[in-house]
Amino acid sequence: DTSHGQILYLQDVCVSFDGFRALNHLSLEIGVGELRCVIGPNGAGKTTMMDVITGKTRPDSGDVFFGETIDLTRHREAQIARMGIGRKFQKPTVFEAMSVADNLALALSGDKGVWASLRYRLSGVQHDRIDELLQITRLAEFSHRLAGLLSHGQKQWLEIGMLLAQDPKLLLLDEPVAGMTDAETEKTAELLCSLKGRHSLMVVEHDMAFVGSIAERVTVLAEGAVLAEGSLAQVQADERVIEVYLGR
Ligand code: ADP
Repeated sequence: DTSHGQILYLQDVCVSFDGFRALNHLSLEIGVGELRCVIGPNGAGKTTMMDVITGKTRPDSGDVFFGETIDLTRHREAQIARMGIGRKFQKPTVFEAMSVADNLALALSGDKGVWASLRYRLSGVQHDRIDELLQITRLAEFSHRLAGLLSHGQKQWLEIGMLLAQDPKLLLLDEPVAGMTDAETEKTAELLCSLKGRHSLMVVEHDMAFVGSIAERVTVLAEGAVLAEGSLAQVQADERVIEVYLGR
């Protein structure tokens, strides 16, 4: 269904590092409101792809479009973040000496900074939005807890909440359930599924059970290009996919 258009469009993207092709004519489209999982062996180009989308790496050639009209290759990393592309790296980065609610308040004030955040917080203007983010991230009962005292999973959810505070159109998540307990992984699946529709998501993940529980469509990268795309069952049955995972 393409009636709602694409949030992200990569066509023939190439990136080389010292003559090595990390992305080799990568083409990929993500629909508005879709939750796409990207899998692939180490070195497949997953991180480089996210670096290209977020403007950290400029491609040697190819098109990278956000929505129908925004050519991301013409923008810098900070501009791209402000346009509504949020990225979460594998390790959680929250302000450990601040409470959960204060972390969210700081994220809500965006680049207006810590003083604006304090002022908003004292005046209570962000109260509803903080409450909403606490509900989404399942952290309502921990709002006054220092972020440093949260479990690993809770820190990851808080960081997702901090990204959501910027109201991103597209969220890029790198291995969101790495190091989580089974119960935390299950909660993360619910959390991410609840974001579908309102946000578009690209999730890079190795945990196949988790991938199967969240994604309708899975993209397999190998050697810098798309090797297969479809449901998890479809790509797992693909002989070329089996081959790259088993090694040659
Ligand atoms: P993945 O995230 O799928 O494991 P990467 O995008 O990190 O794959 O890497 C793809 C390939 O590009 C790897 O072979 C890696 O060694 C190489 N590579 C990535 N970044 C750089 C860099 N800054 N300089 C040189 N080689 C790089």
